[in-house]
Amino acid sequence: MREYAHFIANHWHRPASRQTVDRSNPANDALVARYAQGGQADMDIAVAAARKAFDEGPWPRMPAQERADILYRIADLITANAERLIDIEIEEVGKARRFVKGDVGAASAFFRHAAGMAAQSHGEAYSNLPSQKTGLVLRQPVGVVGVIVPWNFPIEIFAKKVPFALASGCTVVVKPSEMTSGSALEVARLAASAGLPPGVLNIVTGRGSEAGEALTTHPGVDMISFTGSTTVGQHIIRRSADTVKRVTVELGGKSANIVCADADLDSALEGTLQAIFAFQGQCCVAGSRLLVADGIAEVFLKRLIARAEALTIGDPQLATTDLGAMISAAHTQKVLGYIERAKRDGQRLIAGGDRITPGAGLSDNFVSPTIFADIQPDHALFAEEIFGPVLSVTRFRTSEEAITLANQTQYGLANTIWTTNLATAMTASRQLKSGLVWVNTTLDGAPQLPFGGVKASGFGRELGNAGYDDFTDVKTVILSTAPYLSSFSAPT
Ligand code: NAD
Repeated sequence: MREYAHFIANHWHRPASRQTVDRSNPANDALVARYAQGGQADMDIAVAAARKAFDEGPWPRMPAQERADILYRIADLITANAERLIDIEIEEVGKARRFVKGDVGAASAFFRHAAGMAAQSHGEAYSNLPSQKTGLVLRQPVGVVGVIVPWNFPIEIFAKKVPFALASGCTVVVKPSEMTSGSALEVARLAASAGLPPGVLNIVTGRGSEAGEALTTHPGVDMISFTGSTTVGQHIIRRSADTVKRVTVELGGKSANIVCADADLDSALEGTLQAIFAFQGQCCVAGSRLLVADGIAEVFLKRLIARAEALTIGDPQLATTDLGAMISAAHTQKVLGYIERAKRDGQRLIAGGDRITPGAGLSDNFVSPTIFADIQPDHALFAEEIFGPVLSVTRFRTSEEAITLANQTQYGLANTIWTTNLATAMTASRQLKSGLVWVNTTLDGAPQLPFGGVKASGFGRELGNAGYDDFTDVKTVILSTAPYLSSFSAPT
């Protein structure tokens, strides 16, 4: 079992309360980690360290290339320690090995990309102002950033935020999920050995109601960058108002996956499987609503059921496993509750729908790939974020109808369309109300492309120029070399 304290100013700090939070591997219920239970007193120390590192430097005033060099070294250390980080994520998250490898690889890539941005970032200059004045628009770091991370992509979401904040010159206090804090603590330790000055990156673990609240309401924190559920995001927006913090929130989703009659059906099938069953559907951008053209629905669903039923559910450690464990017993119960209610009210179950124990020594936190057909937009399976391997299928006749159905949700994170018709693809790209649209690909991304939502999926962006800019303020400077004349002295 791994035992961790908080990581503050490059040192391990025992929690003031001396209390801890235990984490069991959801795949087999074995105790795997013990984290510090953080509260106000721990957060005060961490924020003071971040504040000092920001206000006194050197981090924000360091030449950007030096900041970049450190971030590159962190990226290298993540790669060098990938096997350990992969094992930690598998144990704490229950995610199958084949997916975790990608998450750790992405984390390293995000550090590398942000390092490049540190040296590239620039402001604007205007030499065309009246009286030969010069206008400068400086881009400066926001200050101390509180980063709050969920459990489903612990290392990847950490790395979608932290290196970009650091590249801009901000200092950071991270509150990881109380279920999956290991990778954040390990990366912070690696960052210290890469030469990151003390106080620049601090990790305080513990529950949202204590450590998270203390971070959100702390007067020493200038910004909160949050990823998690819409309910907690709304709460954080309210709670951060008293200290007038900048807030960015990446929240829930209910993405549509639209398969048109003219689609390359092999690709659409691969994409549909990936979109809903990757990481057991515990994914904010999961394509949990399949919208399929009437004319191809029967054939497509028959193939989809066969592929879903052939997926291997089991020990997340094994390279052959497709679906690992759900994050916890409580969440498994929540997902099964949706399935049971839908069965009871007569919805047409065409695949899965069961809780399973896939092998000796494994827990029962496993849910089979589940598909319900002919779901109407007013049903919970269509409307609510289930966050499990549960796909609702709805048929459409025209692409206009598909777009209307896709937009018939409070969420607006990501939508996918499979079509070979360029006009359909372009119309959908413009009309789908979401921060991301994928055409003939899905669950896709790159460090240079912004990620984030609209509507109840939140605001602000991660990655890309937009993600970097969210951690900066613009300051306008006007420089004059001519004598200054007030309005009172100027001729009328
Ligand atoms: P959650 O909202 O329960 O928790 C997220 C984080 O917030 C955790 O670290 C938690 O401890 C903390 N928290 C909880 N209460 C808090 C409070 N009162 N004050 C401050 N912090 C608090 O979410 P989760 O269950 O960990 O993750 C699943 C959710 O995250 C889903 O809704 C999913 O869609 C969303 N998500 C969104 C994105 C995205 O980019 N849009 C990505 C991944 C996950």
